[in-house]
Amino acid sequence: MALSLYDTASRKKVPFAPRQPGRAGIYTCGPTVYRYAHIGNLRTYLLTDLLVRTLRFAGFRTFAVQNITDMGHMHEEALDRVEDKVIAAARAAGKTGREIAEFFTEAFFRDCRRMHFLPADVYPKASAHVPEMIAIARELERKGAAYREGDYVYFDVTRAEGYGGLSGAQLGGGEAASRTDVSIHRHKRRPEDFTLWLPAEPGREFSWDSPWGRGWPGWHVECAAMAIKYLGPEFDIHAGGVDLRFPHHENSRAMAMTATGGRFASIWLHAAHLLVEGHKMSKSLKNEYTLDDLESRGVTPMEFRYYCMTLHYRTPMNFTWEGQAAASRAFSRLKEAVARPAAGGEADPEAADRFRRRFRDAVEDDLNLPRAIGVAHDTAHAGLPAGALRELASEWETVLGLELLAGAGEAAPVPPEVKELAARRESARRAKDFAEADALRAKIRESGFEVTDSGNGPARLRKL
Ligand SMILES: [Zn+2]
Repeated sequence: MALSLYDTASRKKVPFAPRQPGRAGIYTCGPTVYRYAHIGNLRTYLLTDLLVRTLRFAGFRTFAVQNITDMGHMHEEALDRVEDKVIAAARAAGKTGREIAEFFTEAFFRDCRRMHFLPADVYPKASAHVPEMIAIARELERKGAAYREGDYVYFDVTRAEGYGGLSGAQLGGGEAASRTDVSIHRHKRRPEDFTLWLPAEPGREFSWDSPWGRGWPGWHVECAAMAIKYLGPEFDIHAGGVDLRFPHHENSRAMAMTATGGRFASIWLHAAHLLVEGHKMSKSLKNEYTLDDLESRGVTPMEFRYYCMTLHYRTPMNFTWEGQAAASRAFSRLKEAVARPAAGGEADPEAADRFRRRFRDAVEDDLNLPRAIGVAHDTAHAGLPAGALRELASEWETVLGLELLAGAGEAAPVPPEVKELAARRESARRAKDFAEADALRAKIRESGFEVTDSGNGPARLRKL
């Protein structure tokens, strides 16, 4: 079986056939660096990591581009305030936008390393590509596909061939109208048209000179410009979160295709969203968890990575602490089984090959990691000789990126609040308050640790 991927534009699985034999070009929408990445962002970026890893596993060379939006952009919900998220965060922190962007860019890279994401080949920063964005807007103007109203430059979506082909959005369909029907854009010719260039207010930190005066580029033109610069007018795969499909991807695509005459991305991959305990993540619910939040509850980035991989990327994920605990336990079992295989039988090359094939079929079937993880568990418990099992595990590690062979059973770091619970339990036990000691033991278990008493010595904590 060859690698197939679900293409959002054609709404079906398509065999992957790169434009250049043996080499895959990939663009992913990266972070807007004004805050820490939350677990929903990380799940989306994991899609690209799994894609790149699977492409390499399948024998392709890869060239991956992920942009850093370091000057903020107008979010849909902020259209009426023309708010730049980076500038807003900077104002709140009493720093410059550039300081904020640098700080959170580093934080993003640190999170990527903790999640074992393979680094992209290029991380272009939006603020360093404004001339390329202006060039696209000028080209669109030259082709009569952009128009100027006041100090704004808009893309005329009726000039894009097949607008709506990616998301199913229809002109006059009302979706864009309801989102953009706000005062500053009242002079647009139609609701779906979008900004290529906006005027800067006096003193704005992120602003550039342009043929239309001092201003800044619209969001959608950022990604189009960077994708075209590093991958050309036509490339293989564009990935991102499903929330970006419309309007961001639809608009990037429309403008890029109109400007270059090329088809832009051949395949569009979209990661489904993540809920936390059944709710959309939001500031008010305080459930926009980061990797640090997870670690403070004793969950390692690898355990979170494993949890994500037990669901297909196109399946919405409902993150729950209970689900995470179950995933963490399954992950430990898998590592344990690989590190200490049951007494192996005779070497059976055919058995190993069967597992090898099943794993490959799973990942090459639109990155079906849940199935691949299932194969890994089956393999680990199939009684293969230790050498054969380790060999398979190390092959699969290319895709899984879980440090499966790092050795299971080593002491997991114990978070401070679990240590605190253990200390309280110890005092309760000494005071012979066994009800309290048992209640605390249960709490420790909820945090994913087990406490075992060892004679007269201190109790030991073990990760479940
Ligand atoms: Zn983008």
